[in-house]
Amino acid sequence: MTASRVLVLNSGSSSVKYQLLQMADESRLASGVVERIGEEGGVADHTEALRKVSAELAGRGLGLDSPELAAVGHRVVHGGTRFTEPTLVTDDVLAGIEQLVPLAPLHNPANLTGIKVARELRPDLPQVAVFDTAFHATIPEAAARYAIDTATADRYGIRRYGFHGTSHAYVSRATADLLGEDPADLNVIVLHLGNGASASAVRGGVCVDTSMGLTPLEGLVMGTRSGDIDPAVIIHLARTGGLGTDEIDDLLNKRSGLLGLCGANDMREIGRRMAEDDPRAQLAFDVYVHRLRRYVGAFTAVLGRVDALAFTAGVGENSAAVRAAALRDLDGLGMVVDPVRNAVRGSGARLISAASSRVAIAVVPTDEELEIARDAYALARDTEASAGHTRSSARDPHRPTRDPHPPASDQQAPTPGAHP
Ligand code: AMP
Repeated sequence: MTASRVLVLNSGSSSVKYQLLQMADESRLASGVVERIGEEGGVADHTEALRKVSAELAGRGLGLDSPELAAVGHRVVHGGTRFTEPTLVTDDVLAGIEQLVPLAPLHNPANLTGIKVARELRPDLPQVAVFDTAFHATIPEAAARYAIDTATADRYGIRRYGFHGTSHAYVSRATADLLGEDPADLNVIVLHLGNGASASAVRGGVCVDTSMGLTPLEGLVMGTRSGDIDPAVIIHLARTGGLGTDEIDDLLNKRSGLLGLCGANDMREIGRRMAEDDPRAQLAFDVYVHRLRRYVGAFTAVLGRVDALAFTAGVGENSAAVRAAALRDLDGLGMVVDPVRNAVRGSGARLISAASSRVAIAVVPTDEELEIARDAYALARDTEASAGHTRSSARDPHRPTRDPHPPASDQQAPTPGAHP
């Protein structure tokens, strides 16, 4: 296959982010965002947003009509139980993603529109859907099931799906790379701490537990989301407070978390206010960190043996204070942060553990777009190869296979240092 560029589209509810990557060296050729879709001063809808992306790329000589383009990779938030791998888009796949709209009413419709418009613009090109839930499909039933009536759960698709999967997949593998280890030999806790936040337990490259659930609301304290809460709080608010489902949805998703606790959802602002002894900011920080420590402890028990713990995303990559507080006095669990290494600001993957730490503690910048591009490119090449084209080996040697038990013919050694 001569075409070696991949366009990654992340069509959110009110924005479309894009990146164009050259897969030969995994470099960025272009990136951008079209914001305020459907709002005043913005574009009317996702169709117009995608056309704007197309025009921006064309203006830089990188148009969607380029023969260099090998595939378009689309981030899709919810894959349910059906989509557990990157998937080549067909009419049937589109219908499947549509069926999952009730589980992700804000995200899946926008993702779908992105795919449909890109398909119209380049009907000949492989469009690949990469699901936020897919990496978590390996979570065993014991961790995925909620302890409610099974018939009710099955009827409504209620189980733990998990999200941020492309980030957890990328970071767990990049952590192994950093340590010079094979992901198959490593047990890793990944803490993805962005505006949304989630933890995962990855055993030998395979996800075995995660903090998000049916939706991205469960688990850690986030910028505006509550994370774990007694479900009776909802019943109490409805019965006693007379709140409707939309109000409770709004409360827990948009007015809770750090914002609900102290009026700010940005960890930088919380840090500034803590320096001025603001008690509400301090409480928000403490609640955030307490929940994080609970999950570190819980996932240590889930894994039995932890080799590495990785911090990623906006807060994880940048807040030395959160990292230090999250692991303070955890030498009993083999985790000791080196204060000097932790305080050093850097952009690449780096170790912050002390020499005495049994567990390697790392800061590993996430790169969801690259993960999606790798998935889309590998699938486009697989498809081309199986269609009888010229290549003999379909899989990209730069991308270690995710499947822990691939068929023997498909096994290929990861190339050390092939990606950051
Ligand atoms: P993300 O969703 O990964 O883009 O993360 C966004 C969040 O990261 C912001 O809301 C901030 O809370 C946090 N963040 C970004 N930069 C910093 C920083 N330098 N220090 C602390 N937190 C930061």
